[in-house]
Amino acid sequence: MAEIQIRNVAKRFGEYQALRDINLTVADQEFMVLLGASGCGKTTLLRIIAGLETPTEGEVWIGERRVDHLAPRDRGIAMVFQNYAVFPHLTVFENIGFGLRMHRLPDEEVRKRVHRTAELMHIEELLGRYSGELSGGQRQRVAVARALAMEPDVILMDEPLSNLDALLRLEMRAELKGVLAESRTTAIYVTHDQVEAMSLADRISVMHQGRIVQAATPVEVYRNPAEKFVAGFIGNPPMNFLPARSVGEGQWEVAGITLAGPRSDRPGLDFAIRPEDVTPDPAGLAARVRVVEPLGPHLLVTCDVDGHMFRAILDSELSVAPGETLNLMPRPDRIRWFDPETEKAVS
Ligand code: ATP
Repeated sequence: MAEIQIRNVAKRFGEYQALRDINLTVADQEFMVLLGASGCGKTTLLRIIAGLETPTEGEVWIGERRVDHLAPRDRGIAMVFQNYAVFPHLTVFENIGFGLRMHRLPDEEVRKRVHRTAELMHIEELLGRYSGELSGGQRQRVAVARALAMEPDVILMDEPLSNLDALLRLEMRAELKGVLAESRTTAIYVTHDQVEAMSLADRISVMHQGRIVQAATPVEVYRNPAEKFVAGFIGNPPMNFLPARSVGEGQWEVAGITLAGPRSDRPGLDFAIRPEDVTPDPAGLAARVRVVEPLGPHLLVTCDVDGHMFRAILDSELSVAPGETLNLMPRPDRIRWFDPETEKAVS
């Protein structure tokens, strides 16, 4: 049982507060992705779990054990880094077996585990090759196999696919997901790539300026962002925002049209809608078209709504040109509202 608990963790580097009040539970066998922009603290949090960094405050638990005072090798963790540190002068077999030999496992056990994980990663036929001769994708597989061969309770991965080309990333992404589900290992995976996060994660922890702003399933993070930051970060393009003014109980005026929304004693809220959640409708928001980008199955249309930039993803059959005015109606069940002061979701 390898549930991971991070309790009230904070990290300062000198005056700089890299992490603040991190509380997170990763369930046994869960695949958790830490997602955020560069510098938000993802790697620091991963390194604290691994034992490569000490928290300034707080505790880290793996299963029933508090581990924040333990050396990395005593935590039952394996790590895969961005530059995957595969030794070029060793064969694939020796690379995968490297950690096992360090732990002085008997030869027969090393052989068994190397073969089993090589099979899992589809690299059995490479076992005799020198790692220096391998392609990037093959080396990446060796790095993951080496981590899995340790049969860790927990596997930590820091942008492990970032050195691969786009097609290989896609392929490895699907494989990683399958392999980790099969090996039933608890995984924490750092990335700044939201598509990767969405496709891999059981849950995503969205990080911003040293905090976790939301930890939820990919669908939940996408559909119900807990904070305006998440709404403006997730999605490509992200959500549109417009100011809304209260015009009666649960009634809000947004760029000249009245929409039903939450009851709130605030005079104004921020209205938010995803670009794909609007449809042309004469009663909709007046949107002056600035740019039309055909994306194959869809059109990405960048407009101006009441002085605010507004993007819509529309049917590619639609005939629309810059300078025209479209009327776009938000899907009522997809509208979200945020408090302009706290930036938290209002429902
Ligand atoms: P990236 O995606 O660029 O790796 P990240 O979200 O992983 O970013 P971290 O590497 O965790 O970010 O860094 C968080 C912040 O802490 C950054 O501002 C970084 O400059 C700072 N930081 C990290 N390690 C140290 C250190 N050893 N000394 C001082 N500051 C540090």
